[in-house]
Amino acid sequence: MDVTVVGAGPVGLVLAAELALAGAKVQVFERRAEPDAAMKAQSINVPTAEALDRRGLLPAAEQIQRAVLERVGSFAGGRRTTRFTGHFAGMSLDPDLVDWSDPDLATHAAADGARMVPQPQLEALLGEHVARLGVPVRRGVEVTALHDSGDSVLVGTTAGTARTGWLIGCDGGHSAVRRLTGIDFPGTDPELTGYQAVVDIEDPEKLADGWTWSPRGAYRYGPQPGRVVTLEFGAPADRSAPVTLEEVQTSLRRVSGTDVTLTALRATPTRWTDNTRQAARYRSGRVFLAGDAAHVHPPFGGQGLNLGVGDAMNLGWKLGAVIAGWAADGLLDTYDTERRPVGAWVMDWTRAQIGVLRGDAKSAALRAIVADLLNTRDGTTYAVKKIAGVTQRVDLPGGHPLVGLFAPDLWLANGSRLADHGHGGGFLLLDRTPDGAFTRLATGWAGRVSSVTDAPATPTGVLVRPDGVVAWATDATDIAGLKATLHRWAGAPSPSPEHEPVS
Ligand SMILES: Cc1cc2nc3c(=O)[nH]c(=O)nc-3n(C[C@H](O)[C@H](O)[C@H](O)COP(=O)(O)OP(=O)(O)OC[C@H]3O[C@@H](n4cnc5c(N)ncnc54)[C@H](O)[C@@H]3O)c2cc1C
Repeated sequence: MDVTVVGAGPVGLVLAAELALAGAKVQVFERRAEPDAAMKAQSINVPTAEALDRRGLLPAAEQIQRAVLERVGSFAGGRRTTRFTGHFAGMSLDPDLVDWSDPDLATHAAADGARMVPQPQLEALLGEHVARLGVPVRRGVEVTALHDSGDSVLVGTTAGTARTGWLIGCDGGHSAVRRLTGIDFPGTDPELTGYQAVVDIEDPEKLADGWTWSPRGAYRYGPQPGRVVTLEFGAPADRSAPVTLEEVQTSLRRVSGTDVTLTALRATPTRWTDNTRQAARYRSGRVFLAGDAAHVHPPFGGQGLNLGVGDAMNLGWKLGAVIAGWAADGLLDTYDTERRPVGAWVMDWTRAQIGVLRGDAKSAALRAIVADLLNTRDGTTYAVKKIAGVTQRVDLPGGHPLVGLFAPDLWLANGSRLADHGHGGGFLLLDRTPDGAFTRLATGWAGRVSSVTDAPATPTGVLVRPDGVVAWATDATDIAGLKATLHRWAGAPSPSPEHEPVS
């Protein structure tokens, strides 16, 4: 195998798919015999929804959202959430206050119907995707040892040993791969414990709908039937023990100040803390970390899965390029430099929420001020944009405002979108020159770059990397800029019988 991915969570599955699309031979080792049914992420952000869109998975994800909305609508007495906004420290963000015409939001609306995608359904969707790509997912195989010999990695597992060109730890917050490579995991210690569960409730009228605060902590009831979330300051007695109905009930009674009675668990519940850490390095020789293996933080504002999917999209094509032999020098190093700042931002976004969640008088005063600010059009729009991920930018050279951003919805004259043309992976080049000048240049990178011609308009040209990041854009006919960008990201052009090599 060229690559072995450890962990078939959402991040491992996306990485395996991206590597397969880039032509690598890849396998996944997963210690669980069955997919994880635990309740974790309830939604995805815009870059994740757009990543699904770019691989042709948008209709399936939209179908999942429609089913979720049906359930939410019936719970809320017919009231429907039309647009996903999220919350900051339990302060719900009002969709009616958001300035949806803000350019960052308005230009990333095409995948909006696929935001409410719960993690188990997402993993099922991704599982089908990797199966279609022929990637073997070897379940019941736990990685226990590894040795990087410089030209390959020997992996020890509960099912024997295997040699692989590269190894990627997507094995979650307690990552064995991270531990076995000796990568440090510095950060801040936890101070609160939370639970998420779907339960049967004997006396639901004792609970208020939405987020409710008290000096003892907070809870949320809804928006799906029976869903409860609690959080309290203090560490759990045993973080590794399975969560019981009684434990969730005790926490809910404490924070709600009621004697509410829970009668059954409807889904595998989760317990979480605000342990917040980031790996000191995302790479050690032939071993990489991605997803929760590289960073952990509390789930406020729904960022963890998205952060990991972003890692996977970023690393997949780069490692695929190295294996295919066309990667430009230093390409793999850009994985850490591009993804580390996004991880650091997410950690601080969640830490800030802990700061206003504490029950003391100072935090309560700060929470009141933040609530006031969030209750304005600018404040809500700011927070919604951050949570949606539409302001994320990779620090890339180039003067055009699109460079470094995730590609917006680029509609073409024939009614399709640029994203419709990238389902097979690779770079996408939008060429709106009257004479196809960009397309002619890109023929030297055939097989790596797909060119899509369109009627003249601005931007005249856009080069989108396989991870959706705009590498180059122009409103003129900047041939030299496109050539330099192709060399930088897509490597040297390959000579072909039909075309003169472009140097
Ligand atoms: C209550 C809760 C709510 C959340 N809400 C959100 C949200 O709204 N939005 C959001 O974006 N994120 C949310 N998250 C975070 C999100 O669930 C995680 O960030 C996401 O699961 C990380 O994916 P991953 O693939 O990196 O790791 P995981 O999902 O943890 O997958 C790791 C996989 O590796 C396997 N594995 C572990 N060790 C080994 C080994 N040694 N050998 C082989 N396999 C191994 C595991 O069995 C597992 O299948 C939430 C989390 C929790 C707990």
